[in-house]
Amino acid sequence: MEGMTNQSTKAAIYEVGYRGMKNERDLKLAAARVANSIVVDVRISPGRPFIPFNSSRLRDLLGDGYLWVRDLGNLNYRSYDEPKKIADLESGITQVLAQIEAGRTPILMCACGDFHECHRRDVALALLERLPDAAIVPLPWGPKTLFDDAPPSCAPVSPE
Ligand SMILES: [Zn+2]
Repeated sequence: MEGMTNQSTKAAIYEVGYRGMKNERDLKLAAARVANSIVVDVRISPGRPFIPFNSSRLRDLLGDGYLWVRDLGNLNYRSYDEPKKIADLESGITQVLAQIEAGRTPILMCACGDFHECHRRDVALALLERLPDAAIVPLPWGPKTLFDDAPPSCAPVSPE
């Protein structure tokens, strides 16, 4: 049937590493700039209680704008020497795709600052295999962008 999807704008898969943020409020502000976003926590561990960015604090702060998908965690996160091993990629991807089908825009979140060193890159690439028209976009979160009304863009933020 025609009309199953309207003229689709290119779907975005955002990604962010929270290392460098002051606390989870930075993350909330940045996530709020993406319509219908859902922060998809891809850490294998929810973090220690009572410290910033642990899973229960994020759930309190972001409500249903937050989802911890342990299946997308890296089982070898303690060792840089071992290859990354995602707990259950297929199951995790299915959970993220369900969110996308429900109209949410995922923000893949881990601690690591460098996307290319982080297993969330593997997760993002696996999503791209299912959604070849999507684009991976770094979530802008620095002080310059938080108070900037311009929509998030995949272009780097240029100084002035
Ligand atoms: Zn990571």
